[in-house]
Amino acid sequence: MKAIVKLAEGKVKLMEIPEPVPKPNQVKVKVKAAGICGTDIHGYSALRPPVVLGHEVAGEVIEVGKGVKRIKIGDRVTSETTDYVCGKCRFCQSGDYNLCSERRGLGSKVNGAFAEYFVIWEKSIHKLPSNIDFTTGALSEPLACATHAVMEQAKVLANEVVLVLGPGPFGLLVTQVARAQGATVVICGTAGDESRLALAKKFGANEAINLQSQDIGELLKKLTNGYGADVVFECSGTLAAVHSGLELVRKKGRYVQAGILHQSVSLDFDQILFDREITLIGSRTQKPSAWIKALELMRQERVDLKSLVTDKLPLTQWEEGFRRARERSSIKVLLYP
Ligand SMILES: [Zn+2]
Ligand SMILES: [Zn+2]
Repeated sequence: MKAIVKLAEGKVKLMEIPEPVPKPNQVKVKVKAAGICGTDIHGYSALRPPVVLGHEVAGEVIEVGKGVKRIKIGDRVTSETTDYVCGKCRFCQSGDYNLCSERRGLGSKVNGAFAEYFVIWEKSIHKLPSNIDFTTGALSEPLACATHAVMEQAKVLANEVVLVLGPGPFGLLVTQVARAQGATVVICGTAGDESRLALAKKFGANEAINLQSQDIGELLKKLTNGYGADVVFECSGTLAAVHSGLELVRKKGRYVQAGILHQSVSLDFDQILFDREITLIGSRTQKPSAWIKALELMRQERVDLKSLVTDKLPLTQWEEGFRRARERSSIKVLLYP
């Protein structure tokens, strides 16, 4: 079968590889749609080449291994990205699979979904709600990352003012989930983000502004009686946004690092922790409880995933897909085997 394989850092190729065979308790899925993620393009510390990329997927079950009971051939499904966790450590015991140090993830440590087929353990497979097509279903993974960040890590409440820095795919999903929680959402971008900011408005953002033409500090003061944002989500992965996010969050507020920075940051901890009692929060991918929340939001049609899809390409045109995914004119680029 055809697959997009990462051979080494900076070296990705379309290759012919053997079709995977499901082991006991594994399910084999025929890929119908797969989303390109920043981690496929920019590299990711957990990635172990050689590996087939791709972890945002929907498809149809075509074979099941021994012992598989819940999932049947013909089921329309999406998949969590966990292929193995130890099941014994304290994180596994509490369902925090994303933090198990023995975890093997789809498209990072085991072969992923930029291929005609992939296999994964049955526990990771979710049936798609009947109102969700394969294209939308492929976005359940980034949505689960957003429900993890907004609902589980930051625990955003309905009366809060949320600031989202960076209107990329993840910032737009965080916006939608925070709005679904009833929060007031302000999302910011820079010149070149106009179409993304317009989409944020369509998704219910209360304010979507270009930082270069509007004063975000003034706007937040107006919205919060001068206090600042209750919660900040840094979704751009830039140092400038980290520093402005930490300035714009109110005393005792929560700052969530949701973007990957790929570099270290120097911070004034006295100012952040002692003077202002800000809570710093990390959010790493997703875990089973976040998937349940994401699929429920999809089933109830309280999020619009379809409008995020700007580009659909056959798997063989992956290079063009990766190129478009780097551009701000695209939001989500999907590949179809
Ligand atoms: Zn991803
Ligand atoms: Zn574990």
